[in-house]
Order: sequence, then C-alpha cells, then structure tokens
Amino acid sequence: DVPLTRFLVDAANDFPHRDAIFFLGKRLTFQDLLLDVYRFANALKELGVQKGERVGIMLPNSPQAVIAYYAALFVGGVVVQINPLYTERELEHQLADSEAETLICLDLVYQKVANVRAKCHLKRIIVTSIKDYLPFPKNWLYSLKMLKDGTNVRIPYGGDVYAFSRLIEKAVPTAVEPVYESGDDLALLQYTGGTTGLAKGAMLTHRNLVVNCCQAEAWIYQAERGKESVLGVLPFFHVYGMTVVMNFAVRIAATMILVPSFDRDLILKLISKHRPTLFPGAPTMYVGLINHPEIGKYDLSSIRACLSGSAPLPLEVQEKFEDLTGGLLVEGYGMTETSPVTHANLIWDRVKSGTIGLPWPDTDCRIVDPETGEEVSMGQLGELQVRGPQVMKGYWKRPEETDKVLRDGWLSTGDIARMDEDGYFYIVDRKKDVIIAGGFNIYPREVEEVLFEHPAVQEAAVVGVPHPYRGETVKAFIVLKKDHQVTEEELDRFCREKLAAYKVPRLYEFRDELPKSSVGKVLRRVLKEEAGKVAV
Ligand code: ATP
Ligand code: MG
Repeated sequence: DVPLTRFLVDAANDFPHRDAIFFLGKRLTFQDLLLDVYRFANALKELGVQKGERVGIMLPNSPQAVIAYYAALFVGGVVVQINPLYTERELEHQLADSEAETLICLDLVYQKVANVRAKCHLKRIIVTSIKDYLPFPKNWLYSLKMLKDGTNVRIPYGGDVYAFSRLIEKAVPTAVEPVYESGDDLALLQYTGGTTGLAKGAMLTHRNLVVNCCQAEAWIYQAERGKESVLGVLPFFHVYGMTVVMNFAVRIAATMILVPSFDRDLILKLISKHRPTLFPGAPTMYVGLINHPEIGKYDLSSIRACLSGSAPLPLEVQEKFEDLTGGLLVEGYGMTETSPVTHANLIWDRVKSGTIGLPWPDTDCRIVDPETGEEVSMGQLGELQVRGPQVMKGYWKRPEETDKVLRDGWLSTGDIARMDEDGYFYIVDRKKDVIIAGGFNIYPREVEEVLFEHPAVQEAAVVGVPHPYRGETVKAFIVLKKDHQVTEEELDRFCREKLAAYKVPRLYEFRDELPKSSVGKVLRRVLKEEAGKVAV
C-alpha cells in the first residue's frame, strides 16, 4: 500500500535530470516537476485545503495539469477532473455534485466558472494561464476553439481568486509528507464519460490507481524505466489518459510529450521530431491520423507500442496504423469505474484481432445473463462483470446506483460480451444501445463494422429510432472519406450482402462529423435524440 504520489518521488529520486514533461518547447525534468508539485502542495496547505476535500482541476494537458493533480493528492485532496470544454450546465453539475471547495482552472474558462459559482460550494479558485509555462505561446494555441472563447476575460484576482503563478512563486519547495492513511483513501471522484446519461462520480482510491499502473506495467509494454517516452494526447481529465499516460509515465519515469488538443499536424510533427515510443490512444485518433492527406511525409518509426481503448478498434485501422509505424497497436478495454483498464491484448504477441484481449492480473471476469444473473456457457453472449483491485468503491452520493452495479465485489459493466475457448473477451455492444426491431436484437456495432468496410466510409454510427410497427428501426449516420461519394442504394446493397435483412439500416443520414466525447467516443445518445425528433 503506497500513495500514488510515491511514483513521482521515486522517479525524481532515480532519474532527477530526465525530462518528465515536454510541452510545446518547454521541458521540465522529474526534479523540476517534483519541486513545483511541492511548491503547489505547500500553497494548497496554506490556503487551508484539508484531507478529503474535493479539488477540481479544469485544465487541458499541460504542466499545470500534472502539478495540480499530484499536489492535490499530496495534501490528501480528492481530485475531481473537469473537461475544460464543458458547457456551464455540465460544469455546474460536476462542481455541485462533487461539492468541490477548490478549483484550479485555465484563465480562458474563468467566465464559465464565474457564471455557475453561486450554485456551487467553491471556497477558492486558482487561475492559471498557458503563459505560466510557455511565455510565448504559439499563435495556433490561441486559435483552438476552447481557448478562443475567453481570451478577453479579466480575472478579478484578490479575495478568493488566486493566480497559480504567484502561488508557485511565493511557496517553498520543501518536501511534503503525503497526507495518507491507507490504500483505501479516496484519490479521485472521476466522472463517467456521460455517454449513456448524466455523468456519475466514481470513487477511486489510491490503491485502485496504483494497482492499475502496476498491472499496466506487468502487462502491456515491457517498458523499461527511464527509457521510454509517451505521447500524451489522450486528455488527462479523462480516466484513460490519466492512468495510462500520466500516472503510468510517472511510474516508469517516461517523458510525457504533452499535446493540449487533438491537432493532427501538431501530433505528426511531434512524433517525427520528438520520437515517442508509446502512443496510447482512442480509435478515432488513429483513424484521424491514417486519413491525414500528408501522412506519408512523416517519420513515425519511433512508435513501438500503442494501446487503443474506450471504443471498438476497427481491424483495418489497426493494420494500417501498424504498417505506418512499424509498431504494434493492440486493443484494451476498461471503464471509469475500474480505474480504468481491466483487459488488454498482449503487446508483444498479438494473437487475435477484434478482441479486447485477456483480463489483467488479479482481475476476475464472468459473463452473466442480464435477466437472471446466472453465468452463461462459454461462447454465449451476456453482460460482462469484473472483480479486482482496480474496481471503484462506489458512486459518490448515489447508493442506489452503486447497488445496481456493484454486488459482492462484482461490477456489472453494462456491456454485452462473450469469451472464447482461449479466454479472450469480445465486446459486442452496450446493453443500453441494443436495438430491438420487430422482436430481434440488433447490435449496432456489428452493423457499423460492415458499413466501415465500404471504401467510401470514414465513420459510421448506428442507432435505433422509434418505428410504429417494428418498435425500433435501424438508422445509420455516415461520414464519408474526403472526395468520396456513395448513394444510399449502394450502401443498402453492400449491407444486404453481409447482414441478415433485419439488421440492414432502413434510414441513412450523411454528416460532416459525428458528435463525440472528450476521448473521441461517438455519442450515439445524441444521435438517437436527434433522430427521435424527426418523424420516421
Ligand atoms: P457513461 O457510463 O457515463 O454512460 P461511458 O461508459 O462512455 O459513459 P467511460 O467509463 O469513459 O464512460 O467508458 C467505458 C465504456 O467504454 C465501457 O463500458 C465500454 O462500453 C466502452 N469501451 C471501452 N473500451 C472499449 C473497447 N475496446 N471496445 C468497445 N467498447 C469499449
Ligand atoms: Mg459507463
């Protein structure tokens, strides 16, 4: 049992002069990072942050995001990660629900915070600017959508609004003893993706997070401490980037190359020039990169291993990205409630495709009939349940929701899956997304995969929409590849060759893009709502 902060102390002891962070030209060694974390932790203590208090962090990937996170944990705070792109409604939900007393945010989102603050419990706001670590931020940084919104806002410093840079400047870097009792101490209220409904705060402990990093180390990369560098493009405010990029990088003393937003040109340049060895990502990121018009111009050969998670990885994408980099891209699976990873394929030995792989060490899995709760026989479909040291304590302030998903240590994932004779798991779809048309169960993902095979299709999302006779009917949303065209009739013919008639989409809609979450997950819920409004 160690606090998560131990990884950082160890890295700074063993590799003080190695770069911990590379951020658009700015470098911080592990020693620099630890000293700034100590400074900020001392400042938080002085401001009166107590053990167990919630500390909100609303920052894009940046040195400040890493510093604020570890400093809050050092003083016994419970971190609440908030997406800086959240609207006021989402922000208010998360601040009010978590009852966060402290918030560390970017100056450019300050106005949103000020607008909702009366309905929350904030005692103090600490504001930072990109300029705190990048005195001359590149112009493009300000052209990012998120950063544009609030460029002209004046921050009313004084009272309970503090400047991050001033706090760091004034504070002493004396070592801070972590305020920590045991592995059961809460480290995070990590809000779920909100893909299927309102985001819920998963209570994750220090043990949950420490364990998931150790499992990652044992399982995925055969990474060598002090030798790797990780492309940090997954957002750290999402559980996947937080564990698999930030905490894991600190655990193995890898350099994190931070990317504050998914900008393809920037990412390709960073890979060519700074040569990361590991690139954890989401399928849409790999799709975006392989479809970049000038992908051939870049040298991606430093990439040795990639882990794809958060949504299904199409085989074609996997193979193409592997060809481009010469590294391996394997799929894993997890959820906020499990810190997040529970399954992955072996990185050095990709035995099968289309599977999320094997359960991680110490992780038990079973597949049960969602109606009866009985285990199904091998190869049958059912709901995936997992049990292990990475499973959350429960949902914050939602005992009924917790009881619904957590029983005797077993967490119901809400995902329909099957296991094959070698113990590999396959995610079929979310329980909530299953379409029931004329009494038949249709798994949207199966239909999406067929559409995806069509050469003109870049992205596809399938949802059920209300239908007077069939209950629901299948609707497909399609994004075409650049300079490609296809008719509905052609797609219909294509699908009929590969799918039983009842699964074939009855409706099509072509879009320029699909609504997505912060990690690029297609929000079928949004599409369903929109589709539901239109008469069928
Ligand atoms: P919410 O629970 O608020 O609706 P969410 O479930 O999307 O949102 P996360 O915890 O970020 O929030 O995502 C976990 C879910 O992501 C899993 O339950 C699963 O449905 C999906 N997922 C993760 N990895 C994969 C994968 N490799 N293949 C298919 N689905 C995946
Ligand atoms: Mg979920």
